[in-house]
Amino acid sequence: MLITPHFTLDEMTVSQLAARDGFDNIPPPDARANLKLLCCALEQVRALFDAPIIVSSGYRSDKVNRLIGGASNSQHVHGLAADFTVIEVSPRETVRRISESSVPFDQLILEFDKWVHLSVARGTPRRQVLTVRKGSGYLTGLQ
Ligand SMILES: [Zn+2]
Repeated sequence: MLITPHFTLDEMTVSQLAARDGFDNIPPPDARANLKLLCCALEQVRALFDAPIIVSSGYRSDKVNRLIGGASNSQHVHGLAADFTVIEVSPRETVRRISESSVPFDQLILEFDKWVHLSVARGTPRRQVLTVRKGSGYLTGLQ
């Protein structure tokens, strides 16, 4: 099922953990509505790079989030955040270009130089850019 032209509910709720352990990762209606907002922002990211986006984690039920050790206040639990990479663009370059664009992100995080975390907000987005690295935690800006 498509959420927006290039993003499906399946890819926004994929969880290898849930599949392996035999439980579902189905978002409730409020999270579904948030996923729509999130996918609209991801469509803008896709257009910015004119390249496909590979989503590694979108919505996470409380159970999935707990099992993978995600932050308890994670925006993933509300369907407001996705982790992804853009085909043939480094995560660092991805964060740099999105931060300079009009894509409506709330938080944009370069995570371990391996993927990008982008969240959207129901209200006014903060446009906060962060870098997280093993050992140093969250740093302000692209570091
Ligand atoms: Zn994330």
